[in-house]
Amino acid sequence: MVGPRTHEALSPGALTLVATPLGNLGDVSDRARTTLGAADVIYCEDTRRTRVLLSALGIAGAGRLRSLHQHNEAALATAVVDEVAAGRQVALVSDAGTPTISDPGRRVVRAVADAGLRVTTVPGPSAVVAALSVSGLDTDRFVMEGFVPRRGPERRARLAAWRSEPRTIVFYESPQRLLATLREVREVIGDRRVAIARELTKIHEEVVRGSLSEVLEHWPDGEVRGEVVVVVAGAAGADIAAWATPDAAAVRAALAARLAAGDSVRDAAALVAAELGVGRRDAYAAALALRPGSPP
Ligand code: SAM
Repeated sequence: MVGPRTHEALSPGALTLVATPLGNLGDVSDRARTTLGAADVIYCEDTRRTRVLLSALGIAGAGRLRSLHQHNEAALATAVVDEVAAGRQVALVSDAGTPTISDPGRRVVRAVADAGLRVTTVPGPSAVVAALSVSGLDTDRFVMEGFVPRRGPERRARLAAWRSEPRTIVFYESPQRLLATLREVREVIGDRRVAIARELTKIHEEVVRGSLSEVLEHWPDGEVRGEVVVVVAGAAGADIAAWATPDAAAVRAALAARLAAGDSVRDAAALVAAELGVGRRDAYAAALALRPGSPP
């Protein structure tokens, strides 16, 4: 075979992505233990945290741990490629779960693969799959949204797109923002069914299922602790049809609300176009017509 695979065949080195527990040490696989024990180098997000994991597993970390995070990942990619090309066994872990899933590592994976070297996996825990599997919602088709943007038009547009998303939606959220986010999701897409998976595999594990309104009542004092994943039911056919054909009055009302809130014509049009699934030009023209002083 020609091309990059030739290198893969020549170097015994590999980059191995090793999944680690979400919170329960019992979830470390035998292969994870062996791979971490045998690795020449272990890249991790937080060396202190990974050192604690290794020592709990009875594995010495000394001299093998290197920190890799979103700010140094690009710079380290070449070093990792060189190490694998030199025949070394390089492991990559994140603080918890599967590396590269809303965690650093994608650039390194791409660089090593592009160099024709071996990238392999010791699969295991990942909060997205764990939460989806216990959600009770449809698992045949789902979309992982990672962490949704915290603010701005991107956030609103992302949530608006869920109105017509037929697949189950999974996203990560911080406990401090969870309730505000759930309220906002309800405002944008309606009172859909959800499951909140909290502290999975840990002592206080719980999965709260119900409509968004029901789930919000579960934390009356407004305080959520621990790590959470949100799983939202996809839109049913009726929801999609409703959002796919917004009438002109609904578009004008949404634009008027945005303009009254101080948005520019351009911003109001862009947001409403994304939210209601209408063309940007049409929304812009309608917003212009709504400005004070425009002919009726
Ligand atoms: N790469 C990780 C994975 O595969 O699970 C995810 C990393 S992401 C930075 C961390 C997020 O995962 C947390 O904010 C939370 O949303 C979710 N998470 C991690 N551990 C969890 C747990 N035990 N229970 C619920 N959610 C968890």
